[in-house]
Amino acid sequence: MRIHAIQTGTVKIKTAQVAGRSRGFIDIFRDPNWTDWVPTFAWAIEHPEGVIVVDSGQGTYLLEHGRSLHPYVRWEVGFQIEPEQEIGPQLRALGIGARDVKKVVLTHLHMDHDAGLAHFPDTEVIVTAGEYARARGLLGQIRGYLPQRWPKWFDPTPIQLPKENFGSFDRSLRLTKAGDVVAVATPGHTPDHMSVIVLDGDTAIFLAGDTSYNQALMLSATPDGVGSDRELSIATLNAIKTFAQSRPTIYLPTHDPQSAERLANRQLAVAAS
Ligand SMILES: [Zn+2]
Repeated sequence: MRIHAIQTGTVKIKTAQVAGRSRGFIDIFRDPNWTDWVPTFAWAIEHPEGVIVVDSGQGTYLLEHGRSLHPYVRWEVGFQIEPEQEIGPQLRALGIGARDVKKVVLTHLHMDHDAGLAHFPDTEVIVTAGEYARARGLLGQIRGYLPQRWPKWFDPTPIQLPKENFGSFDRSLRLTKAGDVVAVATPGHTPDHMSVIVLDGDTAIFLAGDTSYNQALMLSATPDGVGSDRELSIATLNAIKTFAQSRPTIYLPTHDPQSAERLANRQLAVAAS
């Protein structure tokens, strides 16, 4: 199985969003400090049952975010992306056509994860039911999602992750017949956020979405500044760490500048004991 890290441009956010204190968006708006530009990765798993794409990355329409009426979208985030950096052209460059992609799995529906959807008009898109409900319609827009930019045909398969233990996670769903690609509930950044674990021999490749913005924040169980439930975020980060201690795990958050390198070098989150 091969997994490709596909960088769809870069993003910058306020430092208060990366490691939150307690007042969420108030801290973000008051914070004058921006992060460096960090990557936004999407992932393509070349699986014998067909290619599975995890997250669709940024799209060039995000460059218009400064005209948004939403204060967070307008002022608290910045994007860089060229048309050829969108996921469609990058998959084609890898020799993967739209028809080769069996499933697109979205960890959540924030704008830097769903903006590449237009490249997959004929592919089943999987998202948790709770996330889809929260992101839709006017209420979704008020919450800072961009449902108005979803393709007209967007009609995802909403899934509930059943109560089924997988390692340290209490909700999980196998996404392949072989059982080697597993969605797990990782609530915190959003209440219905999920991650995707690829079992590659002994090693688990953990496609983490925005459970944390980098690996150090996961290992220190530091919640971000946008999750609404800090205790839940901390519990999820601890569950990931426990998982990584239980088997060799490569942890790959969407915005970690080291994610692509760690995947290429098979670098584990926790050294084998
Ligand atoms: Zn997010």
